[in-house]
Amino acid sequence: MGKSNEKCVQAPLGMKDIFPEERLLWVEMENAAREEFEIAGYHEIRTPVFEDTRLFVRSIGEATDIVEKEMYTFGDSAGTSITLRPENTASVMRAYLQYELYKTKKFQKFYYIGPMFRKERPQAGRLRQFHQMGIEAIGSYDPLLDVETIKVATRVYDRLGLGGYVVKVNTIGCEKCRPGYREVLKEELSKYKDELCELCKARIDRNVFRVLDCKNKKCKEIRKNVSNTEDHTCNDCLEHFKIVKGAFEEINLEYTIDPHLVRGLDYYTKTVYEITHSAMGARDTICAGGRYDNLVSDIGGPPTGAVGFAAGMEASMIALLKTREENQKPKSDTSPLAPDVYIVSIGDESRNYCFKLLNELRQGGIKVDMDYECRTAKAQMKVANKLDSRFTIIMGTDEIEKGVIKLKNMQTGDEDFSENTDKIIQIVKGNI
Ligand code: ATP
Ligand code: MG
Repeated sequence: MGKSNEKCVQAPLGMKDIFPEERLLWVEMENAAREEFEIAGYHEIRTPVFEDTRLFVRSIGEATDIVEKEMYTFGDSAGTSITLRPENTASVMRAYLQYELYKTKKFQKFYYIGPMFRKERPQAGRLRQFHQMGIEAIGSYDPLLDVETIKVATRVYDRLGLGGYVVKVNTIGCEKCRPGYREVLKEELSKYKDELCELCKARIDRNVFRVLDCKNKKCKEIRKNVSNTEDHTCNDCLEHFKIVKGAFEEINLEYTIDPHLVRGLDYYTKTVYEITHSAMGARDTICAGGRYDNLVSDIGGPPTGAVGFAAGMEASMIALLKTREENQKPKSDTSPLAPDVYIVSIGDESRNYCFKLLNELRQGGIKVDMDYECRTAKAQMKVANKLDSRFTIIMGTDEIEKGVIKLKNMQTGDEDFSENTDKIIQIVKGNI
């Protein structure tokens, strides 16, 4: 990418353009995700990028980083407060509830891929428009489903060839046992109040679970001293977690239990999980999820078990690029954006003819381009080289008069002559 031109209007802070070269990896990741999601029976849902603010406040929770300081909230002309979606789970649940999808089929599986918006402090890897891909299984309390969702995530990563990720799991209990654990935590953490970061000092009273999620080094140290969530969960939750652990063993999916793992959103219950990757530094989560059995009822629906994850696409991509660098995957010697054929036109009269040829070749499925900047033939050849075009066709008045097309293979130097466009298409297709 060239240097940024400071004189023009700049993209807003935390917003990133994705250029064609990078986009290839996006498409690869999206395709891998779509295929794995569909294999597991999840189907795509596309919800609007903004929603009634109340949806996020009720689901994500008032005392969370997202709702407290990260949402893009504004009023529309009718005076309704709306918010750019900071995540997609709440919207999917809203759609499930609003259209009473549970009446036709209680158990439904969805996936989404798209942009999310959070007003985060700009720092490495943190954007204000970022992307998540995720799945939601709604309408079941089955612990096996918790593991299914994790397996779907790891299959996407395996398909992409991402090595070195770690699956971390915990149980955070339910509305019956969480209040007890909350009190225990408050008491235990109060002893370390002076050593906690400023934010966490306030979190002890406001939302003590957030202390366990703090990225501050000292706070991370302190949390090793507090009791495990598992020691304070009720029998129901323990039983659920036991089945989850058994299912991991059953399908040989490697995992570790992180006894203090919590998530930054309030709606989670029972199983929570993260997939982390060492390429990421302190904020090492590339995928996060869990169960949220109270979310549908929090937004006004019937009690409905649900589980799912959201994978950060930028984060996953950083990890993937790192793995590929380490494996030194040989780079293909031609650019993936290169055209198959570049047509060089000699003289103004040949341009119309070349334009017709270009369209015939495209019709035949060939990636082909020609000069639209009225360059000399020599300059056009330079462009063909720069674009890394696999073939060139040079059309001068002579060729047009004789009705012959001269196709040159730029790697081997071989030349083919033909009067027939279909023959040209065949040769090119046989070489790509
Ligand atoms: P974190 O503690 O990393 O901020 P979170 O609890 O806010 O996480 P989730 O909503 O669970 O994040 O998001 C899942 C994943 O989405 C994160 O692990 C991260 O990879 C990605 N993500 C979240 N916020 C951003 C952002 N502002 N920019 C880029 N990626 C993000
Ligand atoms: Mg966050």
